[in-house]
Amino acid sequence: MRPHTAVLTRGFDPALSVGSARPAVFRSSTYVFSSPEAAERAFSIMAGRVRADAGEHPDLIYSRFNHPNAEITEDQILPLEEGGQAAAVFNSGMAAIMTAILAFARPGDRIVYTVPLYGGTQHFVHDFLEPFGISGTAVYAGATAELIRTIETAPNLRIVFLETPANPTLVMADIHAAAEAAHRRDPKILVMVDNTFLGPAFQHPLALGADIALYSGTKYLGGFSDLLAGVAIVADAELIRPIKSKRGLFGNILQPDECWILDSRLPTVQLRMNRASKNAQRIAERLVGNAKIARIYYPTLFEDAEQNRIRLAQCDYPGAIIALDLAGGKKAAFDFLRALKLARNAVSLGGVETLVCHPKSTTHSSVPAAELEISGVTDGLVRISIGIEDWRDLLADFEQALQKTG
Ligand SMILES: *Cc1c(COP(=O)(O)O)cnc(C)c1O
Repeated sequence: MRPHTAVLTRGFDPALSVGSARPAVFRSSTYVFSSPEAAERAFSIMAGRVRADAGEHPDLIYSRFNHPNAEITEDQILPLEEGGQAAAVFNSGMAAIMTAILAFARPGDRIVYTVPLYGGTQHFVHDFLEPFGISGTAVYAGATAELIRTIETAPNLRIVFLETPANPTLVMADIHAAAEAAHRRDPKILVMVDNTFLGPAFQHPLALGADIALYSGTKYLGGFSDLLAGVAIVADAELIRPIKSKRGLFGNILQPDECWILDSRLPTVQLRMNRASKNAQRIAERLVGNAKIARIYYPTLFEDAEQNRIRLAQCDYPGAIIALDLAGGKKAAFDFLRALKLARNAVSLGGVETLVCHPKSTTHSSVPAAELEISGVTDGLVRISIGIEDWRDLLADFEQALQKTG
């Protein structure tokens, strides 16, 4: 079955929801056991003391460990991630990232990660992992040779964490090359990819050799800027056990109502992303040459040969994020934000509506100056998450706002 059929037909049995065509929302915190023996068996399986037999459906226990809406969502999302064998849903993207890392990293281990990195992940590495004795080594995402060398030589390497394309200038890291280097060195080194910007529609990390794809489901998967969610999808089903075990401990499973909302959005994620990506490409290419813009960041406009090579090798379409470096610096950026009539000034991305923000004063305001420089975050930079409006209306909005920048 092909992915767009599977997402609509698997994971949900109407008979378990009194015939309802959409799943019921099971808001229970606890589940009634079918027998004391079944309870004993369910706990043994949940704790990892024994394995479920093929086809066995152990009794549900308690919603911090598992609940029907999480199971349905996890089943339905799998076909969207090529090579995915099992999934776990979380109550935010940060919860998915932190739980996946803490399921495998131990004090004394090292994590090699690409920069620029999402602010929350960066914070987690510096302010949490490092004080706990897990060291971090940063490599610039576009520097493939250095990334490979670091993966080959960094002591006690346990996790390679890639975020590609990176926020906000869309610099790309080579997933296949990194996964190959990591697994050549030691198959136990885990390669995790934050796939929020281009997945699940346009980039398939597991098919490129990565072990775990991670998502802020708050963005394209959710798609309407109305819920927080996170997802981890693994290439080897065995990897989901330690992740779900930590999730049960931390209590950060996605709640039933949010699971229900998220699974209702999955069948349209490809449609929404296709439309937003087409819009963005048309807009970005028509903004080329605008005198108010010093530089446009968009994948089909990359000039660096290595970046173009990576893009063509691993991305099906360019996606819907554009960054503009405005010639007039911070004043021009603020003027631009003030003058927008359709697009709204907000952080976050991946919704059906177009959002624009000024990274340096908001999402990246606590990033040290040296790292800002590497990240390309200048005073004049604005990041645009293109939605599914008519692209001509958006282009007109950007053009009139650019006119008003000083
Ligand atoms: C938003 C985002 C996150 C964090 O996700 P939350 O759902 O806000 O916790 C992580 N990585 C990337 C690339 C993001 O854009």
